[in-house]
Amino acid sequence: MKRKTLLAAELSWTEFEEYMRHDDVLIIPVGMLEEHGQHNPLGTDTYIAGHCAALIGERAGALVAPVFPYGYGPEGKKFPGQVSLSPQLLRKILYAYGACYAKHGARRFLFVNGHGGNAGVLRMVTGDLWYDYHALCASTEWWLLVPQIKPELPCNDHGGFYETSCMLAIKPELVDMNRAQDPVPDTILSEHIRAGYTVTYQGEPFFATIDDYRLGRAGNLGAPPQGANERIGADVLEAYIDYNAGLIGELRKIELQNKGN
Ligand SMILES: [Zn+2]
Repeated sequence: MKRKTLLAAELSWTEFEEYMRHDDVLIIPVGMLEEHGQHNPLGTDTYIAGHCAALIGERAGALVAPVFPYGYGPEGKKFPGQVSLSPQLLRKILYAYGACYAKHGARRFLFVNGHGGNAGVLRMVTGDLWYDYHALCASTEWWLLVPQIKPELPCNDHGGFYETSCMLAIKPELVDMNRAQDPVPDTILSEHIRAGYTVTYQGEPFFATIDDYRLGRAGNLGAPPQGANERIGADVLEAYIDYNAGLIGELRKIELQNKGN
């Protein structure tokens, strides 16, 4: 007997049609294939996004699309295995992905983004789907959201203490802690500007694209990964999943007018 599922890939087309008859929410996880230090797998962002999306869907009773495993991230291009799509192509792909679902009834999307480089593109895609299909799109990122709702979890790093902890909570068999290395020290660009996980002026972060020397040979940035543990990762993931499940409940309450103007 077929088990109950909210994963779109596991539904038949008639089950998908039936779902869309009584709900119009779809969760789309977006990941990346990129280095995350010598101790984490290339698919770290994809695993985290896919894992969170599946649990958000379960908790909110919402359908989950397959995770899209590539993104935009030119800064790591010297690392073997890195795949970076152009932002133009990624925008087209994610738009097309959403549009296919919108044509079959999805009107509320939650993009669960696992990779920082995708953020700007997703912002445009949420606009594209709204203006073309009047589909309400939300996009969230665990490393920005969790420190806001749980300041004791400042989980803003790349393959560092927190992201490694998340991987240990999800797929410990893919993490080799013996290979975990300290990140390269912050680079001093000027008297008051330094580059580490973020670029800061007088300690406050601002956005700038700079060279990839920050990644060094190790590739991880932010808090050192040594000491990462499954319990912290589970706390981070739970905070993110819980917030997003609640968000879906609220998105469902928004009345969407039919696009006619
Ligand atoms: Zn990552």
